[in-house]
Amino acid sequence: MSEREPIQPEPAFDDPSVVDPYRLPGGVSPVRYDLTLVPDLIAASFSGTCATALEVASATATVSCNALELEVDTAWVTTPGGGRIEVTKIDLDEESERVAFTFAEPIPAGRATLHTEFRGVLNDKLRGFYRSTFTDADGAEQVIATTQFEATDARRAFPCWDEPAHKAAFAVTLVVDADLFAMSNAAEVSRTPSAAHPGRDEVRFADTMVMSTYLVAFIVGPLEATDPVDVDGTPLRVVYPRGKGHLTDYALDVGAFCLRHFADYYGIPYPGDKLDLVAVPDFAFGAMENLGCVTFREILLLVDPATTTQAELLNVTDVINHELAHMWFGDLVTMKWWNGIWLNEAFATFMEMHATDAFRPEWDRWVTFGLARTAAFDTDALSSTRPIEYPVVSPADAEGMFDILTYEKGAAVVRMLEQFLGEDEFRDGIRAYLSANAYGNTETTDLWDAIEDATGEPVRRIMDSWILQGGFPIIDVDLVNDGRTLRLTQERFAYAGDLGEGEPADDGEEPTAPDDALWAVPLIFSQRSTVGDLVTFEKVLLDQPTLDLDLVEPVEWLLVNTEGTGFYRVRYAPGLLAALVAHAQSDLSPIERYGLVDDVWAGVLAGDQSAHDFLVLAEAFGAETDLSVWQRIIGGLNALDRLVDGEAREALRHRVRDLLRPALDRLGDTPRPEDTDRERALRGVLFEALGTLGHDADVHARARVLLDAGALSPDPALVAASVNVVAAWGTEADFDDFVARMKAATTPQEEQRYLGALADFPDPDLVRRLLALSITDDVRTQNAPLLLRRALTNRDHGDLAWFFVTDQWDTVNTRFPSNSIARLLEGIRSLSAPAVAPEVFVFFEDHEVPQGDKILAQHLERLEVNVALRAREAEALTAELRAGR
Ligand SMILES: [Zn+2]
Repeated sequence: MSEREPIQPEPAFDDPSVVDPYRLPGGVSPVRYDLTLVPDLIAASFSGTCATALEVASATATVSCNALELEVDTAWVTTPGGGRIEVTKIDLDEESERVAFTFAEPIPAGRATLHTEFRGVLNDKLRGFYRSTFTDADGAEQVIATTQFEATDARRAFPCWDEPAHKAAFAVTLVVDADLFAMSNAAEVSRTPSAAHPGRDEVRFADTMVMSTYLVAFIVGPLEATDPVDVDGTPLRVVYPRGKGHLTDYALDVGAFCLRHFADYYGIPYPGDKLDLVAVPDFAFGAMENLGCVTFREILLLVDPATTTQAELLNVTDVINHELAHMWFGDLVTMKWWNGIWLNEAFATFMEMHATDAFRPEWDRWVTFGLARTAAFDTDALSSTRPIEYPVVSPADAEGMFDILTYEKGAAVVRMLEQFLGEDEFRDGIRAYLSANAYGNTETTDLWDAIEDATGEPVRRIMDSWILQGGFPIIDVDLVNDGRTLRLTQERFAYAGDLGEGEPADDGEEPTAPDDALWAVPLIFSQRSTVGDLVTFEKVLLDQPTLDLDLVEPVEWLLVNTEGTGFYRVRYAPGLLAALVAHAQSDLSPIERYGLVDDVWAGVLAGDQSAHDFLVLAEAFGAETDLSVWQRIIGGLNALDRLVDGEAREALRHRVRDLLRPALDRLGDTPRPEDTDRERALRGVLFEALGTLGHDADVHARARVLLDAGALSPDPALVAASVNVVAAWGTEADFDDFVARMKAATTPQEEQRYLGALADFPDPDLVRRLLALSITDDVRTQNAPLLLRRALTNRDHGDLAWFFVTDQWDTVNTRFPSNSIARLLEGIRSLSAPAVAPEVFVFFEDHEVPQGDKILAQHLERLEVNVALRAREAEALTAELRAGR
């Protein structure tokens, strides 16, 4: 990876006189790659040849394209008339990640074909063309060669024009051992014994549609495929490491549903000729939208619904939907340059939920989205947040875009716009945008303009205020003029606790948003009249600091952010808040109740409200029945639990039990036939919180019984919860048992449950064992960063994990995928104890995370917020709990 460069002033990309060092020179463009690769899985290397059909604008004797960590042995050019031009020089430049060919004479303008022969290494860094391994049922190690090219790693596999705007067709041939499975983006055309490579087969695939290099994929190994399912003419398969075929039915169901859903929504047939969903044992990301050949972590594709929790199934469903949404939005229509990656990801995240909501309406996907929206708010409240879109010069600048602000905030603002404009009107704009730009490349504004044309609303002006500045507003809501006028006021929301130090090392990036920033807020509010007992709602665009609206009738209550679709927080005048809390269970929807709780918790972090206020509010929700609302309440209680010890902590546990026990008793402690999926999930959530946060003795005993019943247990939600309950109070014998269960697990979900829970054990020696385990071959490098992140959040021993990570800093950075380091460090947000927090700030004064400096700055600032929360609230909360108030 090249070193990250500071962002320069906005370059004039469209001015041909400006040479941008990060973009290939114009004048020569690829039209079609005829690519043959010969991987050697045992030697971990490959050789290849490529004939790239080019369009040459004007005669030139030099051609430059991208190549990295390749040996390019030779090259020549052929012309349509049968001419051949020899190469005189091949210059590989590591720094610019390019290869420059100089030819004996100029290549004439028009069509020509560049021929290259090259060699490379199958690396173990989970990028480019790389090796992944798994142990088969007989205990033998098996090797797979697979690819991950986004953003700019296709250049590690073959010389290419590795920029999203250089779309071309790809004709791939793989020469593989006769007993191995081989696949690529398009359908297999032929498989014949190779004359040049005895013992191997030559597998040829059809031409792809024109597409960007980052979407190319090829995979070779001891894999198997399900029989194809015909989805309106598209053959759909799941491909998996040998022996895991029994875990594929669910993904086929989701894939088939979702292909139809998107073809219908977009009004365009699926653009590929086949679709394979491929489970890869080692994978740096969650999944990747290679056209027709989508790759996944095993845990996000292979699943046994009978032993899987609703949350785990939801994850699988979402990720499949996300990647398939990209087949159109991303693959068929692609961003011109990497600054547009956020829209690609934000929109796919929005569409994944849209499809999941259609697939399982009873899962209330848009209510669950509240939790992800909260996580986006949490980062976006920091001064170290960033605008969703920012100028991107080098591709490395865009690496920082693969974060929560792109995915979750991006999806939230798209959802806000959709709900404000109307679902059908919004969809019409999307359809117009896709069909106008099919097989092409776009800028973000092309989408806004298409939706603006379809709706007549000022879409570009609204979205610019959300996309081009960081942060979000809080809306103050009050009634004035004797309750006859509603007054809405917006200001930027911020947490309290910027300690004035540890300010992110700003490298000249755009300021996120000034304190007096304004947003064009598409606001929806509802009210219940005291007269007609009617609930009505209204839409208004709040694009000024304050807006007064006259109410027709006096209101019993008034709610801003109806159905929780807006990306803003709300702060009510005290009387209005009390009225909403009083009517919450009778009149508000689950996501609206969620918003009430969430906004009050945010107020605690902002210093507007106290921990006491939150506890009182939580206790007013004893009759709550919704999964997401309870998850939000429990999240706040967990944070309070970190602020108190001893007698006060005992008192808090008591209050937690008083609040949660009746809710669990209402559901019963075993599944009922009439339970919805969300009720079963809620039972698990309440059970786990009672057992961990509430330290409930009955739950502890029952959790052990449920674990011993294992697969015979009636309910995956209770089993998964029991794993975490037992870990929270577990002994050395439990730890050994969990390691054995992890190794013997029959599904990826079960393996992950036991592995993850190892980070929660209360005994420091067991935490040390887990930490040592994390850098051995017992834990895949794709999983270890997530495990260490969880260990950093261990309530009592997060400091051990911190000192381990700093001691092993070099190992961590060389062993784990580069994109995972900043994610691992998310765990430092929890290290607010006085003994460790200062150490964290000091460490990062002279240690860097090149691929995630912005994300690290956010983790550090969020830690400051937690340090300030502790300083502000711990003493008062302790006193209050001990006094039993
Ligand atoms: Zn995506």
